[in-house]
Amino acid sequence: MTTTTDVSATAAPRRAGFTAEDAAALVGRLRATFRTGRTRPLAWRREQLSRLRALLTENGEDIAAALHADLRKSRAEADAMEIGSTVAEIDHCLEHLADWLRPRPAAVPAGRFPAGTTARSQYQPLGVALVISAWNYPVNLLLVPVVGALAAGNAVVAKPSELSPATSALMARLLPRYLDDDAVAVVEGGVPETTALLAQSFDHVFYTGNGAVGRIVMKAAAEHLTPVTLELGGKSPVFVDRDADVAVTAARLARTKFANAGQTCVAPDYVLTDPDTARALEAALPAAIGRLFGDDPQSSELYGRIVNERHFDRLAALLDSGRTVVGGTHDRADRYIAPTVLAEVEPDAPVMREEIFGPVLPILTVDGLDEAIAFINERDKPLALYAFTANDTTRERLATETSSGALNFGLPISHLSVPELPFGGVGPSGMGNYHGRHSIATFSHHRAVLDVPLV
Ligand code: NAD
Repeated sequence: MTTTTDVSATAAPRRAGFTAEDAAALVGRLRATFRTGRTRPLAWRREQLSRLRALLTENGEDIAAALHADLRKSRAEADAMEIGSTVAEIDHCLEHLADWLRPRPAAVPAGRFPAGTTARSQYQPLGVALVISAWNYPVNLLLVPVVGALAAGNAVVAKPSELSPATSALMARLLPRYLDDDAVAVVEGGVPETTALLAQSFDHVFYTGNGAVGRIVMKAAAEHLTPVTLELGGKSPVFVDRDADVAVTAARLARTKFANAGQTCVAPDYVLTDPDTARALEAALPAAIGRLFGDDPQSSELYGRIVNERHFDRLAALLDSGRTVVGGTHDRADRYIAPTVLAEVEPDAPVMREEIFGPVLPILTVDGLDEAIAFINERDKPLALYAFTANDTTRERLATETSSGALNFGLPISHLSVPELPFGGVGPSGMGNYHGRHSIATFSHHRAVLDVPLV
């Protein structure tokens, strides 16, 4: 159902000149709404989720156009990975929310309390949440946390990324039209606006982006003892075992690495494999890329662009980090970097020093699983660890001898689409998690209630 609520002055998107005083007034207004109790009933929460769903299904054209303007996303990618994935999250939440919110009885130790004593735990909304989003999936990464915040009964301030300005402007225009604008606000802008917001006392801050800013967010939140969720990035390795089907592996690697021109937080970052499998992958990957984007990916409607010149220049400088197997070409005026595979990459090559976050796939060789595990464990705990293997011992060893936000065998990125799985990092790749019932836990206080009879 859509709302006919007019966009009020206080709910209007904020641009230049948004000060800490403006932020304080905004948070005060949302907190006043929260204190009335309006956001607590299940009916209000479900209503907001249904309206958000309507926002997505009724504005598909505009959303796809904004994503195309920002990132040259194809309509198929916009439908599947932005609109469809967010609608799926909402539907899962609408289906299970009542159950997730049910108080959970806890056993009372026998003989230590009077007869009739009961204990339970139950989720309680926190208050006003701040969601700061990144640019690479600017619809999903803004709205999926907002789904969690609203489903948990909170008011929320949503701050889209300034690096995807068309989508940011669209979200700022649409959200107040569909949602309860006394409880939900969008603040557009970059560092000054986010800094003004972070000076306020929120009840939870949910940040998606890089670790350097993650530290700024956490420091600001610490001033108010506000809990944070940090959805960060890092280099997600792919181990390809000798026994893996190379054609299947190459096809799935190409599809998941080069979606959104590699600008995916859980994109496969680099491949670790033995020399024979490396040669086989070198032979199979160009064909797999060709099947996705044709002979000239620059003219393919399905292939995206780098978000801005700064990231383009950063990526272009990484293209000499190894022997080019395929790709390697670029066009700054078009912010185009070809899907690129590099072989014979050394562990200290420039492309291995930071998260790539672009369409460059280095292949590094190791003797086998032992060396791969050592290589992974010598580096930051990744957001995702991927493996292609037919061997149960390999699976077991990767599960027990490494740590990462997620461990995924056989189909990179796809763990995001399993709504019962928590999504989040560990160590430098993040803290906390969300999606489905995990979002409810993130945006709630889990309260203990003990009830002892007065007899
Ligand atoms: P970005 O530049 O959009 O920044 C993210 C947010 O931080 C924006 O809203 C921005 O306004 C804000 N910000 C920037 N500088 C700030 C400052 N000094 N103070 C306060 N706020 C500030 O996005 P990005 O950081 O370039 O995103 C890319 C990174 O994010 C990659 O490392 C990627 O892996 C990671 N990422 C993680 C996830 C995840 O779910 N774990 C998803 C997407 C991206």
